[in-house]
Amino acid sequence: QSILGIETSCDETGVAVYRGGSGIVADRVYTQTDHAAYGGVVPELASRDHVRKLPGMIRQALDDAGLAPDELDAVAYTAGPGLAGALLVGAATAVGFAAALGRPAIAVHHMEGHLLSPLLDADSSLTFPFLALLVSGGHTMLVEVRAVGAYRLLGETLDDAAGEAFDKTARLLGLGFPGGPAVARLADQGDDERFEFPRPMVNRPGLDFSFSGLKTHTRQLVARVDRADHADVAAGFERAVIETLVIKCRRALKQARLERLVIAGGVSANRRLRSALDVALPGRVYYPPPALCTDNGAMIAHAGWHRRHEGSSDGQINVRPRWPLAELSAPLNPEP
Ligand code: ATP
Ligand code: MG
Ligand code: FE
Repeated sequence: QSILGIETSCDETGVAVYRGGSGIVADRVYTQTDHAAYGGVVPELASRDHVRKLPGMIRQALDDAGLAPDELDAVAYTAGPGLAGALLVGAATAVGFAAALGRPAIAVHHMEGHLLSPLLDADSSLTFPFLALLVSGGHTMLVEVRAVGAYRLLGETLDDAAGEAFDKTARLLGLGFPGGPAVARLADQGDDERFEFPRPMVNRPGLDFSFSGLKTHTRQLVARVDRADHADVAAGFERAVIETLVIKCRRALKQARLERLVIAGGVSANRRLRSALDVALPGRVYYPPPALCTDNGAMIAHAGWHRRHEGSSDGQINVRPRWPLAELSAPLNPEP
C-alpha cells in the first residue's frame, strides 16, 4: 500500500510517500523562512505559506515516487496537535484530495509521527517496548511505548519545551530563528563550565520538566556579560538542558524497567545531547534518520500506514490543535 503523508502543523510543509515493504519513496520538506524576522512562528503567515506550497509539493512527491495519483491507497495528514489554521490547510487538502481519488483520508497525531520515526531507519534493530523522549519546539515528554498506539505519559514539561528554551536563548543572544542549531553552533566555541546554570527539577522526584527558570537565569546572565562571553553562555545553557534530559531519561528507564530509549523531535538533532545519552545510559539509544528529526511528511505517511485501516471517507475536516497523545489506542488490524 502507498500512503501519501501531509504535514502542516507548524512552519514546515512536508509531503512524502510511504510504501509498505519499501519504506519512504518520496520526501519533500519546505521550511518557511518568513518567521525569522518575528523571532517566532506567526500562525497566519504559516497557514498562507502552506496554501501556497502544498499543491506543487504533492505533485513533486508523486513524481519522485513514480506514482500516478490514483495509485495512492490513502492520504494521511497531521490532524493535531499544532496551530489550528496551519492544521486546517493540510487537513482540507488531504481530505479533498482523498475524496477526489475515492480513497480514505487518515488523521494522524503529530507526536505519534515523531515517536515512530526511528522505525524509518532501515538498519535499525529497534523493537517494542521502549522509552521515548520527545523533545521539540512545542513538547518535552517521556512516553512509555509498549506497541504502536500503546502510549503512557510518564512525564512532561510544566512550562516551556526544550526546543522553545533553545529558541528563546537564541533570541537573547541575538541569534536567528530557529534557535537550536544556532545556539549549538555558538556553543561549539564556548566553555560550558565557566557560568553556572541550574539543573531544573532534577532534585525532585518524578519525571516532569521545567525550563522556564533556566530561561530567566539566562536572561539575567546575558544582561551582565559582554558579547565576547556569549559562546560561554550558549555552552553552559546547552549543557544544563542536556544534563537535565539525561538525568530524567535515566530515571524513567529505571522506573519503567525499560532498556531501549528512542529520542525524536527537533532537539534530537543536537549532537551533544546524542553523545551525552550514549555515554550515560546503559542500554541503546535510537534516533530517527537526521533529516527526519524535525517536522516532515515522511513520519506522517509512516504513522498513517500503521493506521491505514482507520481511514475515513466521510469528507469531514476535523483538526485537534490540542490532542493528548495518551488518548490514542492500538490501530485496527495492527502489524503482527
Ligand atoms: P512540535 O513537534 O512539538 O509540534 P515543532 O514541530 O516546532 O514542535 P520540531 O520541528 O520537531 O518542533 O523541532 C523544532 C525545534 O527543534 C526548534 O525549537 C529548534 O530550535 C529545535 N532544534 C533543532 N535543531 C536543534 C539542535 N541541533 N539543537 C537543539 N535544538 C534544536
Ligand atoms: Mg518546526
Ligand atoms: Fe514536530
